Amino acid sequence: MINASIKQLSAALAAKTISSVELTQLYLERIARLNPGLNAYITLNPEVSLAQARAADARIAAGQADTLTGIPLAQKDIFCAKGWLTTCGSKMLHNFVSPYDAHVIEQFNRAGAVNLGKTNMDEFAMGSSNETSHYGPVKNPWDTARVPGGSSGGTAAAVAARLCAAATGTDTGGSIRQPAALCGISGLKPTYGVVSRYGMIAFASSLDQAGPMARGAEDLALLLNTMAGFDERDSTSLQRDKEDYARDLAKPLDGLRIGLPKEFFAEGMGSDVAQTVGTAIAEYKKLGASVVEVSLPNSKLSVPVYYVLAPAEASSNLSRFDGVRYGYRAPEYGDLADMYEKSRAQGFGAEVKRRIMIGTYVLSHGYYDAYYLQAQKIRRLIAQDFTEAFRQCDVIMGPTAPSTAFELGEKGDDPVQMYLSDIYTIAVNLAGLPGMSIPCGFGAANMPVGLQIIGNYFDEARMLNAAHQYQLATDWHSRAPNGI
Ligand code: GLN
Repeated sequence: MINASIKQLSAALAAKTISSVELTQLYLERIARLNPGLNAYITLNPEVSLAQARAADARIAAGQADTLTGIPLAQKDIFCAKGWLTTCGSKMLHNFVSPYDAHVIEQFNRAGAVNLGKTNMDEFAMGSSNETSHYGPVKNPWDTARVPGGSSGGTAAAVAARLCAAATGTDTGGSIRQPAALCGISGLKPTYGVVSRYGMIAFASSLDQAGPMARGAEDLALLLNTMAGFDERDSTSLQRDKEDYARDLAKPLDGLRIGLPKEFFAEGMGSDVAQTVGTAIAEYKKLGASVVEVSLPNSKLSVPVYYVLAPAEASSNLSRFDGVRYGYRAPEYGDLADMYEKSRAQGFGAEVKRRIMIGTYVLSHGYYDAYYLQAQKIRRLIAQDFTEAFRQCDVIMGPTAPSTAFELGEKGDDPVQMYLSDIYTIAVNLAGLPGMSIPCGFGAANMPVGLQIIGNYFDEARMLNAAHQYQLATDWHSRAPNGI
C-alpha cells in the first residue's frame, strides 16, 4: 500500500480493500517508527487525522467520494490549518494555533483528504537545506547524514520515506523543486497565481507559489486539480476556468521540442548531475522528443536579483511579527519599542534576521534605486529570455540543482554557497513560470538527481505529460531509500 499511487489508493478505497482509517493508521504507525530519525513532521494530531479518515469512510460508503477522499496527505507547516499549530518553522510562531484554514487546506478538506500532520521546513521558508528550522534539521531518508534540501525538506523527506501518500510544498526560489530533487521525488511549482496563497504564510509575495509534491507526476496532477482555482481572497489568484491537469498524461511525446539552455549545461553543474541529466534527455529522445539549444543569457543574474527582491519583500512581510498580535513575545522588556526589539531578536533565527537586514537595506533611501529598482529591471529581462526561448521549444529541461544532497552542516557557515543551490530554479520564480523536478537517477554517493522541466505559462498539463511518459518508461520515481 505504501508504494501505491493515489489513483490505486483511491480505487482500493472505493473497492473497500482498505478503509481510510486503516490507511491512516498505517501511515501513523510508520510516522511513529521512522519520524524520530528523520524529523520530517513537526506537528501530529492523530485523533484529528483519524476523525477525518472516519468521515472519509462514511463519504465513500455514501458513494460521494472524490479522487482524494480518504487519502492521507501531509501539509507543509507554512499553511494555516484551523486548530493546528502552524509555526512556519519559527520560534516566532511556536504557539500559534491557526483560527482558520488556508485556501489549500480548505480545498483538501472539501475533497475529503486526511491531514496526517504538518511538515518541517526552513524558518519562514528561507533556506535550501532545512537547517534553518527552529525545530531542528530534517534528515534525508537516502542518507541521514545529508540534508533533504529546503525549504520544503520535511515534505520531501516524508514523501520519500513513505510517511504520507503525497504532500504540499511552497516554492519562492526553488523550495519545491530542489528538495524534490535531493530526496528523489517529484514536485511541481505551478504558474504564479494558479494556486491561491490565502492562509499561506508570506515570504516574498511576488514569487511565492504553492504546489504538490509526490512520488510520481500522475499524483501531482491529481493534487493540483484540487489545489488550483480562483480565490477572491488572494488578489494575485488568477480567474481562469478549472482545468484537468491529468488530461494529457497519456499523450505520446512524439514531436515534443525540448529546449536545453546552454547556460545550464556550462560550468557549475557537478559531473555526476550532468551525466545523469544527459541520460534522461537521451531517454526523452527515444520517446520521440527532439532537442534544441536555447539561451537564457540573463539567468546568471538570477541569484543576485533574487537576493535583493526576496529579502526586500520578506522584510516587509515579516514586520507583522512584532510580539503584539500573535506568536512569540519576549518574557521581559521595558517599554513598547523594547518589547518589539526583544521579541523579534529572540523570536527570529539568524537567516531570517539576515534577510530582514538585507531587505531593509536595499529598500532604504539612497539605495532603493541602486539595488531594488535595478533588480526589478533585470527581473524583466530574465522573463523575456524565457519568452524568447519558448519560441523554439515546448518545454525547457536541465538540472534542478547543481549537486546531489550535501552533508548536514556542510554549507552552514557560507550563505552564498547555500544560495547557489537554487541557481537553476530561481529564474523560473522571477519569471512566474511553472517548473517541476522529477527523479532521473543517482549521482555521487548514490544520492538522487532531479531533472528540471520548465514550461510556458499555464502549460502544467504538458509538463505533467512529459514527466508521466518518462515515468512510464523508467522507474526512478518508484525507487525507495534503504530500510523504508
Ligand atoms: N532557497 C531559497 C531561499 O532561501 C528559496 C526558498 C524558497 O523557495 N522558499 O530563499
